[in-house]
Amino acid sequence: ATLQPLLDSRDDFPVLGRTTASGAPLVFLDNAASTQRPVAVIEAMGDCYRNYYANVHRGIHTLSEESTAAYEQSRTVAANFIGAAVDHEVIFTAGATASINTVARTWGDTNIGPGDVILLTIAEHHANIVPWQQLAQRVGCKIEFLPIDDDFLISDEVVQAALQKHQPKLFAFTAASNVLGTENPVKRWTKIAHDHDAIVLIDAAQAVPHRAVNVQDWDADFVVFSGHKVCGPTGIGVLYGKQTLLDAMPPFLGGGAMIDEVKTSGFTTAALPDKFEAGTPPIAEAIGLAAAMQYVSELGLDNIANHEHRMCERADAALRSMDGVKVIGPTPDKKGGIVSFQVDRIHAHDVSQGLDHDGIAVRAGHHCTMPLHEYLGVTATSRASFYFYNTMDEVDQFIESLAKVQKKFAPTGRRRKRS
Ligand code: PMP
Repeated sequence: ATLQPLLDSRDDFPVLGRTTASGAPLVFLDNAASTQRPVAVIEAMGDCYRNYYANVHRGIHTLSEESTAAYEQSRTVAANFIGAAVDHEVIFTAGATASINTVARTWGDTNIGPGDVILLTIAEHHANIVPWQQLAQRVGCKIEFLPIDDDFLISDEVVQAALQKHQPKLFAFTAASNVLGTENPVKRWTKIAHDHDAIVLIDAAQAVPHRAVNVQDWDADFVVFSGHKVCGPTGIGVLYGKQTLLDAMPPFLGGGAMIDEVKTSGFTTAALPDKFEAGTPPIAEAIGLAAAMQYVSELGLDNIANHEHRMCERADAALRSMDGVKVIGPTPDKKGGIVSFQVDRIHAHDVSQGLDHDGIAVRAGHHCTMPLHEYLGVTATSRASFYFYNTMDEVDQFIESLAKVQKKFAPTGRRRKRS
């Protein structure tokens, strides 16, 4: 019974009704890259632009006050969605990437020095690697990577030992891998890190859209995610930080809104959250994000997680049973709705193109995780990633289409002749 609202939700997504270039009905399995938007989100943004849009905070006039109220209400919705203690611990940024860069530039530049260690995992997205490498270029710190084991997992013992050995100032890791699908035990690792006096940053880009997240329960110091992966607009995301940390950090971008007072001799900084929101913020995007969060909350994050899990199980089992197909990632009990795979003798791009002919959208390449791919010794993978509006039928269509692609590009018994 709890599944029906998820299936019914398809009607709220106009794009899911379209066909692709070949004329086949769209089967959208590229949700880890970005999700689609329901009418509620499109309408909320349209309503803002049509009826009350103006710049926020500054103008004492009706439209500005209405926009400001809607923008700040969106912050409240976002704070509730992730279980923040107070609204101003939620900073609106341009996305997960912008959020991590903000922490690296402000907390990092202030607290990290030569020889200090930042601990990451090998499965991080480039967004949670490169800003720390840039910090290392600026301040001379070191970066250590936790390896994954043969089952694509990292044990608590490995985490514990690395924290003990390297005594990192920061442990930054993904709550859910965008390639392996692995869901890391955030609360446990955060506790271990805190026991070793490390600050913890969670890349929750692949977690917040797919399961109930509570940042206070995690006890994480920083949590980042993007709006567009949770049915919200592009160009907006969240940096959550514990108030004590955010208060102690210098601002990042300078300009309007982030100041208390400016004189020719200098400036003083505004209080949270304005301190980290210089310039005109993404106003309609915040309003759209709040509408998206309300939409997925109504469907229920537990329902969403269960449904995705079942689709993942079905896809994972089918892929593992196919000759010449290798799943890159743990068994479904250890992951969310992401399945990456390789097909013998067919490049990931050809797999993707072949599936597209049947209307099926999957991603191919390194998925912004080149160190992980290098570690696994592969250059490219294909990835199917599910969201609540996908169906078991779509999973079956994907598998049937993949079998066709395999037959076409790498027919069995006709191996290429050696020269
Ligand atoms: N981290 C992870 C795990 C991701 O999957 C992504 C998006 N692919 C990001 C960070 C970066 O998000 P964005 O591009 O929206 O800033």
